[in-house]
Amino acid sequence: MIDLSRLTISQAKEFLRQRCVSAKELVEMYFEEIKNRNNELNAYLEVFKDAFEEAEKIDLRIKNGKELKFLEGIPFALKDNILIKGKRVSAGSKILDGYIASYDAFATRKLKEAGAIFLGRTNMDEFAMGSSTENSAFGPVKNPFDLKRVAGGSSGGSACAVAANMALAALGSDTGGSIRQPSAFCGVVGLKPTYGSISRSGLIAMASSLDQIGPIAKTAEDAEMIFKAIKGKDPKDATGVDRPERPLKEKIIIGVVKEFSSGGEGIDERILKQIESASRFLDSRNFEIKEVSLPSIAYSLACYYIIAPAEISANLARYDGVRYGKQRSGEFGFGKEAKRRIILGSYVLSAGYYDAYYGKASKIRRLIKTDFEKVFNEVDILMTPTAPGPAFKIGEKIENPLAMYLSDLYTIPVNLAGLPAMSLPFGKIDDLPVGVSLIAPWFGENLLFKMGKILENAG
Ligand code: GLN
Repeated sequence: MIDLSRLTISQAKEFLRQRCVSAKELVEMYFEEIKNRNNELNAYLEVFKDAFEEAEKIDLRIKNGKELKFLEGIPFALKDNILIKGKRVSAGSKILDGYIASYDAFATRKLKEAGAIFLGRTNMDEFAMGSSTENSAFGPVKNPFDLKRVAGGSSGGSACAVAANMALAALGSDTGGSIRQPSAFCGVVGLKPTYGSISRSGLIAMASSLDQIGPIAKTAEDAEMIFKAIKGKDPKDATGVDRPERPLKEKIIIGVVKEFSSGGEGIDERILKQIESASRFLDSRNFEIKEVSLPSIAYSLACYYIIAPAEISANLARYDGVRYGKQRSGEFGFGKEAKRRIILGSYVLSAGYYDAYYGKASKIRRLIKTDFEKVFNEVDILMTPTAPGPAFKIGEKIENPLAMYLSDLYTIPVNLAGLPAMSLPFGKIDDLPVGVSLIAPWFGENLLFKMGKILENAG
């Protein structure tokens, strides 16, 4: 009998290859979990019954002795902002009610080519704006460790689906932390790749200079396999870059960020203790730990909440009822957070205020990037908390947007600089999972995987 809570992609591949399980049986097992748990967890917005047919085709191929493709028969969940041709897609919003994707996202196509099976589309904050999935038009996702708590956001549905064994792996998107923070809250691994390393074609845009698709998985190795399968550029995304991996060094120096080592508003001190314990663990494994400083990082949140809304206001202008969206929006209109950001974004881009806000934020963004460039001359990789606390209670922050924005304190600088980062489960606080994040230099994903495998679950 297969224990889904322990199953990894490479094991599933081996089971399929040895015919210990058929692709259809695997899908059935996940559907059974979805049937048992999705009503209370609300991770999936839609389940794709045609997954069975896909699985049957794969089983036939296996029966005929065909070599299995890289992710053939692996059951995935996709965040509801990643297009799958012929399937509904809503970005967690009612404004796209009934909309059907007319093409596959680049990442979807790559997964299909690798033979993956799609189980369904997962719940998310509306247009990926939020840190708790409470901004979804379809109700919040619950945390599988405590149903009174959030699963994080905006990719809360994908993280919850993997954590609750309702999918073997998932894709999410990360604009300011939306893959890493829900992964931390749900005790799974989440990778936000280098900006440009996976084409954003077919990802419903939130803030285009920050958005990146990435995997949510059970282990660092699974995340690595998925990243390798979906990375690449295409002509539909002009910001794509194809770079060879960075060579791995023999001796790796790990940096801990001085500015993140003290408490402050909304920061649970026990999270900082987890970082200390992760440092001690790595020290015991003979890694050098060095404290480094990122002086401009204090401005990250302020900078992000100008740049992101500015881009959001431009990207969401297409839901005007003519190009996309309902003609008479009414109850099908945008939720509160989307409206807040459209107004804020239009304001910071307006003629009289552009220089004071957007212009200045762009300069600060440059400073933050330069800070990272400098520290990566001193250390090879950085280690930080993923979120300032474990999963919070549903309703706790929803009326206070600023408290909600603080949830991304540690993740946002990475998006502003376009860096790759990965959150790994590391210990627990009050029976709730905690995530530790590693940040590598641009295109240093291989270093994240190497260190992730050492650090995951060592807490
Ligand atoms: N929570 C952040 C925001 O609301 C980040 C969201 C994301 O990464 N998509 O903007």
